[in-house]
Amino acid sequence: MDLKQHIRHIPDFPKAGILFYDITTLLSNPDGFKATIDRLSSPYIGKGIDAVIGIESRGFILGGAVAQRIGAGFIPIRKPGKLPGKALKQSYALEYGTDALEMHEDAIEKGQRVLIVDDVLATGGTAAAAAKLVSATGGELHGMAFLIELLFLNGKAKLPDASVFSVLQY
Ligand code: AMP
Repeated sequence: MDLKQHIRHIPDFPKAGILFYDITTLLSNPDGFKATIDRLSSPYIGKGIDAVIGIESRGFILGGAVAQRIGAGFIPIRKPGKLPGKALKQSYALEYGTDALEMHEDAIEKGQRVLIVDDVLATGGTAAAAAKLVSATGGELHGMAFLIELLFLNGKAKLPDASVFSVLQY
C-alpha cells in the first residue's frame, strides 16, 4: 500500500509558508491505519522495549497503537499544564520564540528502555526536547520513530544519540 497517496498536503497551514502533512486522511482509512502501524512497529517487535512515549497530540494516536503492537506500555509527553501529577518540563526553540513539553517525573523507571513516537520529524526541536525528558528521568532511549521525516530540514542533526527511523521521507 502506498501510504503517501493517502496523506493530504495543505499549504500555508498553520501559517504562511508551511506545507502541512495532514495524516487524518490516512488514519481514517482502515487499511491505511493498519499499514501505518505495521510499518512503524516492525523494527521494534521483540526488542525489549518497555514503553512507547507519544508526543502530544498526533504522537498519541500513533504511539498508543505502536505500544499495543509491540507489547509495551504507553507514556504521554504533553504541552505544559496538562498533566495532573508532578511533571518535568523541557523548553525548546521554535522558529519564533519557545515552546515546552512535560512528562510525569515518575513515568519512567530508571533503566527502562523506551521508544519515542511522533508523526512528523521536521526541525527536530520537539523530538530533542522529548529525548532530554527521557534522559532526565533515567530512561534508556532505544530509538525514535516517525511516520514522516522532512529530510530538507535535517532534524536528525539535533538527535545525536538516538537511532532515528522514519517510514516515509519527503
Ligand atoms: P519539529 O520540532 O520542527 O521537528 O516539529 C515537529 C512537530 O511539529 C511534530 O509534532 C509535528 O506534528 C509538527 N509538524 C512540524 N512540521 C509539520 C508539517 N509540515 N506538517 C505536519 N506537522 C508538522
